[in-house]
Amino acid sequence: MEDKNFDLLNLYKLQLSDSRIASLEREVEKLKASEELKAREEELKEVVEAHNGLFLNYNELEKERKKLDDELSMKNEKIKKNEQKLSSGTITSSKEIVNYQEEIVSIRKVNEEIENKIIEIMIRIDDINESIKLENEKKEKISSHVDKLKEEISNSIRIIEEKLSKYIQKRDNILKLIPDDLITKYNEVKEKRGGIAIGILKERMCMACNMEMSSGEALKVSNLNEIYKCPICKRMIIRYRAEVDPIIEEFKD
Ligand SMILES: [Zn+2]
Repeated sequence: MEDKNFDLLNLYKLQLSDSRIASLEREVEKLKASEELKAREEELKEVVEAHNGLFLNYNELEKERKKLDDELSMKNEKIKKNEQKLSSGTITSSKEIVNYQEEIVSIRKVNEEIENKIIEIMIRIDDINESIKLENEKKEKISSHVDKLKEEISNSIRIIEEKLSKYIQKRDNILKLIPDDLITKYNEVKEKRGGIAIGILKERMCMACNMEMSSGEALKVSNLNEIYKCPICKRMIIRYRAEVDPIIEEFKD
C-alpha cells in the first residue's frame, strides 16, 4: 500500500511536469511571435523602402543634372568656337559676322535656361539629401532597436529552454516510476480535459476545476491510496496530504 501511495503522488508530479512544460512552451511561442518585434520590423521595412525611393529619385536627378551639364559645356564650346572664328580675322563677310554673333547670343540665352534648370535640380538634390540623412538616422535607430529586441527575446527563450529541458528530464524520470496502465489512463483523461488529468481534493475543493463538491461526495474521497473521479470536472482526483505542498513548490520555478 505504501508503494501505491508513492505512485499516486508521482502521477500528480507527472501532471505538474506536463503543465509546466506546456506553459513554458507557450511562453516560447509567445516570445517567438513577439508583436513588438513584428511591429518594429514592419517599421524598419517601411523606412528602408522610403530610403530606397529617395535614393532612386536622387539618382534620376543626378543623371538629369549630368545631362544638362554636358549640354551646357557643349554649348559653351560652341560659343568659344564662334568667338575664335570672330577674332581670327578670317571672316570678312559682315553678314557672316552678324550670323556668328547672333548665334552666340541665342546660345547664351539657352544656356541661361539650362543653368536655371541645373540650379533647380541642385536645390531638389539638396532637399533629397537632407531627407536621405533623416531616413538613415531613423533606419539606424529602428534597426538597433530591432537588434536589441531580438537579443532580449533570444536570451529569454534560452532561459526558458533551459528550464524546459530540466522539466522534460524530470518528467522522464517520473514516468519510469508509474505503471503503464496508469499512464495510459492519465493520457486519456488529459487529452479529453484540456491538458489536466489529475487534481488534488483539498477539503471539498477540487484543485483541478476549482469547484467545491458536496460534503457527501468529498467524504467518499477518503483513502489516500486511491484515485477518485471529480463529480464536477470528471478528472482524476487524489485526497490532499501534507506532501503535496512541497511538490507544488518544486514545480513552480
Ligand atoms: Zn474537479
